[in-house]
Amino acid sequence: MADILVFGAHPDDAEFGMGASMVKFARHGASVALCVLTRGEAGTYGTAEQREGEMRAAAARIGGELEILEFRDCQVFDSYEARVQLAAVIRKFRPRIIFAPYHTNASNHKDGGAHPDHTATGTIVRSATRYARFAGLKGVAGEPWNADHLLYYMVPRSRTPTLLNDVSEHMEEWESIARCHESQMKLRDGKVLEGLRRFREAYGNLLGVACAEGFVCEEPIAFDLPLFLKPSHQPGGVPR
Ligand SMILES: [Zn+2]
Repeated sequence: MADILVFGAHPDDAEFGMGASMVKFARHGASVALCVLTRGEAGTYGTAEQREGEMRAAAARIGGELEILEFRDCQVFDSYEARVQLAAVIRKFRPRIIFAPYHTNASNHKDGGAHPDHTATGTIVRSATRYARFAGLKGVAGEPWNADHLLYYMVPRSRTPTLLNDVSEHMEEWESIARCHESQMKLRDGKVLEGLRRFREAYGNLLGVACAEGFVCEEPIAFDLPLFLKPSHQPGGVPR
């Protein structure tokens, strides 16, 4: 059982994409589980074994359970089998909220978020979330489960997020967790974390806070008057 289940195609996706939010959720008492489809063996740096060790270390620091599946890097495709496999993971953890990389990315091939495994994972999770509900679908292991929310991270650069999570207070811990993926620190000329931080600063700027992580929510959300009446920061304001 977990309140929150985060899917990633590769070992670093969840930590690089929404790691500070995972820290924030966990430190506020939510149980977080991670499901990674591949060991990232096709990446430029790091072997499958090394990368598995890195994701285990990161998950341990977050304090979340980790499930590693046997998909092959660069061979993540939407299929009945893939949907059934992920639906079984959803039934195992019974989360209220599911996170996945955004299912569509029309950005150019240089955008890290546009890796086909990322978008395929989002597409599979979207179907798997439905499959997990169907009692008559005998191919899915476990008892039926209806997750309340499906949210997407790795928002394409061409899209504005629908939800921004202020993670200013969790950036230090996020960085130490992201650094567990030691083999990936050579990416972007060794400035991968700097780039990821700048992304969070840009999202933070939209909220008037130091750093935020962005998400897309496609489902209608019930109107919550007290939440909407709360004074908000000035977008573009300089955080104190
Ligand atoms: Zn990835």
